[in-house]
Amino acid sequence: ESLVTTKWAGRQVVYYDETDSTNNQAKAAGEKGEVHGTLFVADRQTAGKGRRGRGWESPSGNSVSMTILLRPEIPPVKAPMLTLVMALAVADGIRDVLGVDAGIKWPNDIVLNKKKICGILTEMSTEIDYINYVVIGVGINVNQETFPDEIKETATSLKVETGKPVKRAGVIATVMERFEQYYEQFVQREDLSGIREAYEACLVNRDRDVRVLDPAGAYEAHAKGINDTGELIVVLPDGTEREIYAGEVSVRGI
Ligand code: ATP
Repeated sequence: ESLVTTKWAGRQVVYYDETDSTNNQAKAAGEKGEVHGTLFVADRQTAGKGRRGRGWESPSGNSVSMTILLRPEIPPVKAPMLTLVMALAVADGIRDVLGVDAGIKWPNDIVLNKKKICGILTEMSTEIDYINYVVIGVGINVNQETFPDEIKETATSLKVETGKPVKRAGVIATVMERFEQYYEQFVQREDLSGIREAYEACLVNRDRDVRVLDPAGAYEAHAKGINDTGELIVVLPDGTEREIYAGEVSVRGI
């Protein structure tokens, strides 16, 4: 019995009551030749991962922890754009299903009322000229009512924001349906030009002042939008424009 009505995204699901991280399971399956579109879902993760070695809180029963395995036939340098494709699928899916104003904090966080409801972590295995596989992990706060002290000011859940419990299976199915559509638009052009407008419509940093946390030095700027490869276009105080690549920086201020 299938969870989704997609052609390939999440048609095949591998489910865990508990695992270290669904990204780790998806990568192991990727090494073994598992097919494009396979979805790894866990009720709880014991070592959920965020970017740059940070952790992701994913308590039993209340959150969605899932990772999709992909084998895109695109140049390896283009794979990081898939993070933005997934961010759009999540924001758009949540907006439509729940009628709430979910937004994207560039490049990879989904926020509701300025608090984080979802994180996305993309990892990949590539050779010089081809992609072996890409995994995109998605952690969504669904029915949590409280959060650990470290994140209680910055995190929220769909239940907290809507006042109602939300079915996890429905969230997973909707995100997979959206992702499949946006992914196909992405691989057709090998850039984000087909979905850029939709992404920018969800972008909370758009036309906002941001602080760019560049390892080479933090600075203030004004965010305008994204370009076709998913870089954030910012204007510096002296009026010069700069395009910033997600791999290098975080932004603050929404
Ligand atoms: P930023 O760019 O804002 O610095 P990030 O996008 O790199 O953050 P992620 O890697 O997506 O962050 O997420 C990891 C961080 O998210 C953790 O360091 C923690 O502060 C926070 N976090 C962990 N679990 C949750 C959760 N369930 N909900 C919201 N935030 C969380």
